[in-house]
Amino acid sequence: MNKNLLDLSYSEVQSLVHELNEPNFRAVQLFDWLNKGVKFSEMKNLPKAFIDKLVNEGYIDQPLQIVQVLESKIDGTKKYIYKLNDGNVIEGVLMKYKYGNTICVSTQVGCRMNCAFCASGLDGLVRNLTAGEILAQVVAVNRDNSEDKKERAITNIVLMGSGEPFDNYENVTKFLQLVNAKEGLNVSLRNISLSTCGLCNRIYDLADSNLPVTLTISLHAPDDETRKKIMPVSNKYGISDIMKAVKYYFDKTKRRIVFEYSMIKGVNDTLDHANKLSKLLKGLSCHVNIIALNPVKERGLNGTNKQSIKEFMDVLIKNNISCTLRRTMGQDLEGACGQLRRKFIKDNTTIE
Ligand code: SAH
Repeated sequence: MNKNLLDLSYSEVQSLVHELNEPNFRAVQLFDWLNKGVKFSEMKNLPKAFIDKLVNEGYIDQPLQIVQVLESKIDGTKKYIYKLNDGNVIEGVLMKYKYGNTICVSTQVGCRMNCAFCASGLDGLVRNLTAGEILAQVVAVNRDNSEDKKERAITNIVLMGSGEPFDNYENVTKFLQLVNAKEGLNVSLRNISLSTCGLCNRIYDLADSNLPVTLTISLHAPDDETRKKIMPVSNKYGISDIMKAVKYYFDKTKRRIVFEYSMIKGVNDTLDHANKLSKLLKGLSCHVNIIALNPVKERGLNGTNKQSIKEFMDVLIKNNISCTLRRTMGQDLEGACGQLRRKFIKDNTTIE
């Protein structure tokens, strides 16, 4: 079984270096190289004998490689396909904004949540990603985009790719610690958003973990009846559970809560829904991201038209609920969560 060096924290790398009878400064050098996306063969200031020891112990340098990059001609958005060492394939996106570059990372191969509009859950969960495999996405894309080696190309991270972060809690929280490490990429927790479909027990855990990232809730409905039609998770946790948990999260972290609301024609997009949503969120420090549905062929759902989205948002605005329509990026590329990965797998599978 391969052991992934990017899974290790700085202090774990220090212990390893110590165990291998190497001087302490090798830990700084090794950790720095790993977080730059560099392979063993390129770690110029490390003696071959040290690298040989690591290899003999079963350690690997980078746990994934970029196998495809698609760049949008419209806005420069880049979609990435990565191959993991066990042959599994995951996807990610880099979005370029005025204030910096945001990477969207995957936390699982596939997903168990099976939301009615999402491509990631179509084949269920394949496996969890390790902390190092989540970090490796940031590391690889950062390297791919740093012409000037000194400056970090990635400024923001959203955990909104394939998978449910709270269904892989231990690895995801370790990833947050790794990517925030001052000896590594040192991305501020304030610049990281974690998106969940609402596994409420983990909202409390995260609130108590001293990792104050922005919590984003995929709400998509203001009442349980509507939510149950599109999100199986709502059979376990109702809207009232979510509201209680996010209030706890806000009290602990003082971070504004973000709600995502994808507009699905004839399901969650009436003015009645908008009024209910306003009532639900009244008085909470929050923001609503309205998302135009990215239709997934296999799912058979359609998006709400522009005019109705506007009318829906007008109700929220009238009720003083802060909201914005998420800019659609990279529209000329294969869009929604999990779609690009599926296409890649299909195109690269030879039927015998
Ligand atoms: N499992 C996490 C994160 C992954 S999805 C979660 O549920 O939040 C990131 C966001 O994209 C979620 O709000 C999800 O509901 C939304 N989403 C997924 N597929 C979509 C689609 N086809 N169109 C619009 N939004 C979608």
